[in-house]
Amino acid sequence: MVTRAEIGVIGGSGFYSLLDDATEVEVPTPYGPPSDVITVGRIGSRTVAFLPRHGRDHRFAPHLIPYRANLWALRSLGVRQVLAPSAVGSLRPEVGPGALVVPDQLVDRTSGRVQTYYDTDGVVHVAFADPYCPAGRAAAVSTARSAQWDLVDGGTLVVIEGPRFSTRAESRWFSSNGWTIVGMTGFPESILARELAMCYTSLSLVTDHDAGVEAGEGVTHEEVLAFFAANVERMRSLVTEVVAALPEERACPCSSALDGLKLPFDLPE
Ligand SMILES: [Zn+2]
Repeated sequence: MVTRAEIGVIGGSGFYSLLDDATEVEVPTPYGPPSDVITVGRIGSRTVAFLPRHGRDHRFAPHLIPYRANLWALRSLGVRQVLAPSAVGSLRPEVGPGALVVPDQLVDRTSGRVQTYYDTDGVVHVAFADPYCPAGRAAAVSTARSAQWDLVDGGTLVVIEGPRFSTRAESRWFSSNGWTIVGMTGFPESILARELAMCYTSLSLVTDHDAGVEAGEGVTHEEVLAFFAANVERMRSLVTEVVAALPEERACPCSSALDGLKLPFDLPE
């Protein structure tokens, strides 16, 4: 039976059946319970923990997800590399529904979300200039390219507070800055992973164009869900293949993100 995992997948509920020898584990954390029980199992030779970001019944809206508990719980299970599939809107006319973006930059437009573990007993400044794991990105890009995805290697993810979608003016402003995609969950998930010295890689599936990008009624929740559902199978096989392509030994900077910093608590092992 598998009870520890090296790789974490935080995603939609279509991913359970990926795991062999699966066990469900409840993981309490100092930040309360994570979004749901975590399923731990194997994909090929790798051990993987799967956590449904919004809960199995999709009860957590993006701004209410217990992000701190989620990343803490994964690290407590042994996870050091996180894959984060999610649905995003495109800010570029040439990047359409069905494209996969593996972003290399991020702009935080959220507000009011707790975005750090280090809010007591001293100051800890963690570098975040490059928010994504270079090794995880490389694995995702080469895998998606071999699988003939319509792939964007790099680009900037804007994370908005939600749960509402962007106005046309906001969307035009984002695209005029040269940013690529917009979503609601990529922050603080990514910084919390970094604060625990975990690798984090975003697999962003474009489900629609954002409101300012093309004429029309803008985005509806039904459209996003329908498109994502139609692409669950493709995303599942992509995640399976990226898991296999992740390095077994970490040589990226993420593992040393906390070196030399004085932490107010011990990290979970
Ligand atoms: Zn890394």
